[in-house]
Amino acid sequence: MTQYDPNNIFTKILKGEIPSHKIFEDDHTLAFMDVMPMVDGHCLVIPKRGSRNLLDADPTVLAQVMAAVQKVARAAVKGMGAEGCQIRQYNEQAAGQTVFHLHFHVLPLRTGDSVKPHVGGMADHAVLARHAELIRAAIEG
Ligand code: AMP
Repeated sequence: MTQYDPNNIFTKILKGEIPSHKIFEDDHTLAFMDVMPMVDGHCLVIPKRGSRNLLDADPTVLAQVMAAVQKVARAAVKGMGAEGCQIRQYNEQAAGQTVFHLHFHVLPLRTGDSVKPHVGGMADHAVLARHAELIRAAIEG
């Protein structure tokens, strides 16, 4: 399998070299808004320790990131006034992965919501900032 390349856009977000709409951060993980949301409130949760995707990740890192996925998913559902959520995760180009630093997509959903295509159009930054604020406000603990 191809090796993890630390020269990716999520590493730049982790280093603060490019901006993001942050939702949550702890010692091991970071969550921020997806700039091309498939639904309102679509956010991403990433581990700070680099791996290409789920296939090469250290199980310890997976345990840490899944705890953060649960925390962010609960906040995204509550903050966005949703009824549930999808968690999506793509591994390798053949499966739709476009950024090669492990990440989990959190999509808050209400009955009847339609999900836009993966990596579609860029969202307005003011809208992303407002959704990030709603989700941040709903984070517990
Ligand atoms: P994947 O195809 O699973 O690798 O998803 C990568 C996701 O990262 C896509 O949903 C993109 O919209 C999102 N994305 C790409 N660049 C950025 C960025 N600078 N900030 C936030 N999200 C991004």
